[in-house]
Amino acid sequence: MAKIFCVANQKGGVGKTTSTVNLSAGLARVGQRVLMVDLDPQGNATMGSGVDKRQLALSVYDVLLESASITEARVRSEKCGYDVLGANRELAGAEVELVDVERREKRLKTALAEAQSQYDFVLIDCPPSLSMLTLNGLCAAHGVIVPMQCEYFALEGLTDLVNTIKQVHANLNPELAIIGLLRVMFDPRITLQQQVSDQLKSHFGEKVFNTVIPRNVRLAEAPSYGLPGVVFDPVAKGSVAYVEFAREMVERVKTL
Ligand code: ADP
Ligand code: MG
Repeated sequence: MAKIFCVANQKGGVGKTTSTVNLSAGLARVGQRVLMVDLDPQGNATMGSGVDKRQLALSVYDVLLESASITEARVRSEKCGYDVLGANRELAGAEVELVDVERREKRLKTALAEAQSQYDFVLIDCPPSLSMLTLNGLCAAHGVIVPMQCEYFALEGLTDLVNTIKQVHANLNPELAIIGLLRVMFDPRITLQQQVSDQLKSHFGEKVFNTVIPRNVRLAEAPSYGLPGVVFDPVAKGSVAYVEFAREMVERVKTL
């Protein structure tokens, strides 16, 4: 049965999408069966997995509105080695369309129940907000992976996210927990980043993943080729780190 994780942080540009597609590719590389769910109407994780968001016959939008199942709407990314439940701008409308329906925050959870046995991991790329879309992700998940840059304001944003997760845990999804904080775009030459990293470890302890993702231009270039860095340039430092992170996740889920 798949373990389901949201990659979430309400800040934009912190590496959610990069982490989702590269962890998906890394897990595929170490032999795991992966479904990547794009919950962001921008569709960056879809495009970054080699799936053209403009050509999707069905998407996560249809799944949320219950007009398609996951089995019907997913597509295979052969190059990346995982399945994709894609998103495009249509998804922005779901926010409004879900307002009046029943179990509106549990739509994704319900849909995943049917496909869950076919995967080892389901990874959900969340939009940078606490919207109905993110809520669907948090309700469906066993845990949250929080990518963060080691900057001063990152810690402040974390308080909001932790509170949100506590509320969802208390009211909607008793299984939900923060699985871990992932330090991304890390530059060890910057003293402040070292300091924030140390603070994170002393405050969150075991919840901070051992793997650190370095700032690496190959990871930023890969999306323009429609690929995760792990597939585009497997020997780049950033790609090696994400495969290492995939191994760490495989070990971490054994302890859940
Ligand atoms: P989010 O999904 O949180 O908005 P993205 O994953 O899209 O964030 O990342 C924001 C930007 O930072 C993108 O241009 C991406 O290519 C770049 N980026 C992400 N991680 C790294 C990294 N480790 N090294 C260099 N650039 C990165
Ligand atoms: Mg994103």
